[in-house]
Parts: sequence; C-alpha cells; structure tokens
Amino acid sequence: MKTYDAIVVGAGHNGLTAAAFLAKAGLDVVCVEKNDYIGGAAVSRNLYKDWWYSNCSYVCSLLRPEIYRALELHKHGLQVTPYGGSVTFMENGDYYGSYHDHEVAYREMARFSRHDADAYKTYSADTMRQCRFIRDFLLSTAPDPTSFRPSDIRELIRIGGKFMNMGEDRMYETIRFWTMSVAEYLDEYFETDVIKAAFSGSGIIGTALGIHSPGTAYVLLHHYMGDVDGNVGSWGFARGGMGSVSKSIAGAFQAAGGELRTEAGVDQIIVKNGKTTGVALENGDEISARVVVSAMDVKRTFLKCVDQEELPPAFYKRVENFKIRGSSGKVNIALDGLPTFPALPEGSSLYHSDMHFIDSMERMERAYDDWKDGTWSKDPYVDMVIPTISDPTMAPPGKHFMSCFVQYCPYQVEGRAWTSEERDAFGKSVIDQISNYSPDFKGLILHAEIRTPQDIEAEIGITEGNIFHGELTMDQLLFNRPVPGYAQYRSPVDGLYMCGSSVHPGGGVMAAPGANAAREILSDLKRPNTVPENFGDD
Ligand SMILES: Cc1cc2nc3c(=O)[nH]c(=O)nc-3n(C[C@H](O)[C@H](O)[C@H](O)COP(=O)(O)OP(=O)(O)OC[C@H]3O[C@@H](n4cnc5c(N)ncnc54)[C@H](O)[C@@H]3O)c2cc1C
Repeated sequence: MKTYDAIVVGAGHNGLTAAAFLAKAGLDVVCVEKNDYIGGAAVSRNLYKDWWYSNCSYVCSLLRPEIYRALELHKHGLQVTPYGGSVTFMENGDYYGSYHDHEVAYREMARFSRHDADAYKTYSADTMRQCRFIRDFLLSTAPDPTSFRPSDIRELIRIGGKFMNMGEDRMYETIRFWTMSVAEYLDEYFETDVIKAAFSGSGIIGTALGIHSPGTAYVLLHHYMGDVDGNVGSWGFARGGMGSVSKSIAGAFQAAGGELRTEAGVDQIIVKNGKTTGVALENGDEISARVVVSAMDVKRTFLKCVDQEELPPAFYKRVENFKIRGSSGKVNIALDGLPTFPALPEGSSLYHSDMHFIDSMERMERAYDDWKDGTWSKDPYVDMVIPTISDPTMAPPGKHFMSCFVQYCPYQVEGRAWTSEERDAFGKSVIDQISNYSPDFKGLILHAEIRTPQDIEAEIGITEGNIFHGELTMDQLLFNRPVPGYAQYRSPVDGLYMCGSSVHPGGGVMAAPGANAAREILSDLKRPNTVPENFGDD
C-alpha cells in the first residue's frame, strides 16, 4: 500500500490551506472529505434551480491577506468585493444606519445623540487598537508560557514588548477589554440604546453567550479584526459565494500536486505504539501516511476518531470539557425580486449593508434568555445580507439570494432532537421578523433552507454546529486553545496534528489555523517553510 507523507482529514478551507502549504513544500499529500463536495462551512451550494447559496458562512473579511497572496488565490478565481455599512430597523418605524463615510456616520449618530456621535471617534480608535494588537498574532503559533524553548521565549518577549509599548493606561484597558462583556464595553462610550444594540450584535454572533456575558467584548473584536484589501474592519462578498474561497484554495493545493478525495469520510485515525500510521475510512479502506492532520473540530477528532486508550486521561477530559455549544441557525432564501424596506429612503446605500431587526439591549438579552430556556429566540437577532445586489453570479437576472444568520438557535430543543415542525417554526420566526419591516418580502420567497445547529452538525460534522469549532472565550484562546499544553497544533499522538478552527486563532474563514499548523508540521519534518510570515502591515 502506498504511504503518503500526509493525510489531511476534512476539505474545509483550513484543511485545504494546510494541505496546500504542505504540498507546496513537496510533500505527497491527500486530503479526504466525507461529503461529495468540498468547503465545509465555506461553501456555495446549488440547492434550488439556478441559485447558489452561501449556506453556512456568507461574508468574508478574516481571510489572511498573506495566505491569499502566497497561494495566489486570485489566479484560482477568488475575488472579494467590499460591501458597506449596516442598518438596524426600529419598532417605532425609524432606523439607525451605520456608514463607512465618517461625515455621514457622524450626522446619522448625531440624529440620535450628539454625545454618541462625538464618542464614536474614541470608540473606533480604541477598538482598532485592540484589533491591531491581535492581528499581529494571527499568523503565528501561540507561545506556551510554561516552556523554555527558544521559539516560545522569543514569541513571549515579542508579545510582552508589544504590550508594554501600549503605555500604562492602555495596558489596563487591554486586560479589561479581553474579559469584559460587550454591553459593559459599549456603556463606556455610548448612551443611545439602538446604537448600543446595533454594535453589540458582533459580540454575540456564533457564541452561546449573551451581551452581558464576560468575554463578549473580545468576540466583537473577532468581527472587526479582518480586512478587505487592507481596509481593517471591512467585510466583503466572495464572488460566487463563500465556496469560492475553498475552491480557490483547493485549486492552489491541486496545482501543487495534491490529491483531493471526496466521499471519503474517516472513521478512525489509526494509532500504533503511540504514533499514527494513517486513517481507516468509513467504507473500510485504509490509507497510510507519516502524518495525519485533522481539520475536524477537536471533539470530533479525539472523542470520535481516536481510541480513548491512546490518549492521556487528563487530555481526554479537557477535550470533553471544551466548550463548543450550538447557538446559531441559518435561513437561506431564494427571492423572486428585491424586497423593499419602506423605512429606508429610496435608493439608500443601506440596501447594500447588513440588516438587523432588534433595536434595544433588552431585546438582545431576551433573545439569549430563550436559548437558555432551551428554545430558539422568538424575537431573534438576525444578521441579514443580500449578496446578489452586488454579485449577479449567485442568482438568475433580477432574482436574489438572501442570507439570514440567526442568533439564537439551540442545538437541541428542551434537551431533545428538533422536530421538523419546530424547524419550520424557527424559520417562520425569522421570516416574520424581517416581514415586520418589509411588507413585500414574504410574497417574494421562492424557496427557503432552514438550518439548525443540528443540521449543520449532520452536514459538516462540526460538534453542535458551533460556527467557530469552540467558543472564543479567554479560557479557550491563544495558548489555551484547544487545550493547555497542546496549543501548537501537535497532539499527544505522535504524528497527529490539528489544523481546524478549534486551534489558534479560532474560527471564521481566516485560513490561519491551517497555515500555522502546516508551518509546525514542516518544521517537525525538517522541510523548508512555505507558509508566509505576517506582513506586519499594521
Ligand atoms: C452557519 C455558519 C455561518 C458562518 N458565517 C461566517 C461568516 O459569514 N464569515 C466567516 O468568516 N465565518 C463564518 N462562519 C465560521 C466559518 O465558516 C468557520 O469557522 C470555518 O469555515 C471553519 O473552517 P474549518 O476548515 O476549520 O472547518 P470546517 O469548515 O468545519 O471543515 C471541516 C471539514 O471536515 C469534514 N469532515 C468532518 N468530519 C469528517 C470525517 N470524519 N472525515 C472526513 N471529513 C470530515 C467536513 O465535512 C468539512 O468539510 C460561519 C459558520 C457557520 C456554520
């Protein structure tokens, strides 16, 4: 039987990224994927007539520019175009719009509060400072603070130096920021409820936490620290949907000689004498390799695919306790035309923005209360976009695709599996929420795909459908992600590595976990590094 240099398990965008950098270094690599399509949560699916749905992730910002360049993703068809602003519709018929243009943004905020409009500049500068601090560590391995290895000590000194250079006040602020709630953070700047509600959404997307939960200020950062063409904080649409990201990385992998196998689900990662020798597929085939790189989440990798006997009990326990809770759902809709939102002026640029339908901090928190009660939010926070306004490739002429990301949606309803009636009721709550502000919307719906965390788990294998492969709280970040002592992409099994979103720097369509893992593997195999350095563009 042939022995590969490496098997990568899972053709999501991180698995493909790791595979591409390994193949570029001359390794003989096969990437195996359980589905009959690639992309994992960065995918475009043809689920209704001529529509292409970004049916999991829907907007792009976090993808590291260094990786985009190193893999020449433009040559493999990736194009990301920025979109602008956001709008929050209000129960009283008004709306709050957020714009890229500073003058317009100031005037709009001042319509609600001169104080808030003046505070926005400081808020932006402070938040951006935190972004720039963390951006520098995305494309590097988190140092282990207990280690005396030169690479760990060097990186710790670098981080310490950056931290010290902030100045005394900002050091205090940084530590507070990483542990406080998004509600407390916003209270320090703003007084207007709808403005706080509009900004707080980024603190809870993808998490099983509420706006008052400690740690959610950091989650907000996770949504601001990306960029499109160097504009930090901007988001964009991948032309053709989010599958274009994965497709382009797969293109780079195959151009480097890599082999891609779909419908090749892994049942077991084979371990002999503490070392992996390959994988056993669900169909009974075995593939051997010197190293196995898992892009599955940490629970699926170690609790489902590795024999418990092969793992230290303390490690196994930590993995069991890793927080990876389902909290988000999705409703993807094919539309016969563009819905109108009468609160907006005709031709408003806000049609190109993301749209929200909750206008107070109390409503934001109550949406979380429903999740804690074991059900979906009856007054949900919806992050809605219509990418086809700027990308005509995803739907026929004159028609549209609408993506609704929904917070909150539990993995189980009151502790048991979802029924199809409950799934429909969840979808209806989202559609009703939007209809409250768009009277013609319902009449334009041609098809809707309703996805609960249970559906997401069934389809792409992410435990509980948690979009980040694990909560982004301080106890699960940097050298704690996924487990202290194993945050450098290696595992207790010799030759078995992790490269999915459960490892530093976490979830989102960023490709950094995959690239960081490849760098460590190449170092262990004493091969030249193909993974780019951080640009240091900040
Ligand atoms: C609903 C939703 C909305 C999101 N929205 C956004 C967004 O707009 N922007 C953003 O940046 N991020 C978003 N995210 C997060 C982001 O998409 C994910 O964090 C990221 O795509 C995960 O990538 P990954 O490669 O680490 O893992 P995955 O994409 O989960 O890939 C893992 C792969 O492994 C495969 N697999 C699983 N088990 C096996 C097995 N046994 N054998 C073989 N293959 C297996 C899966 O099929 C999958 O292809 C969203 C995620 C979801 C779910």
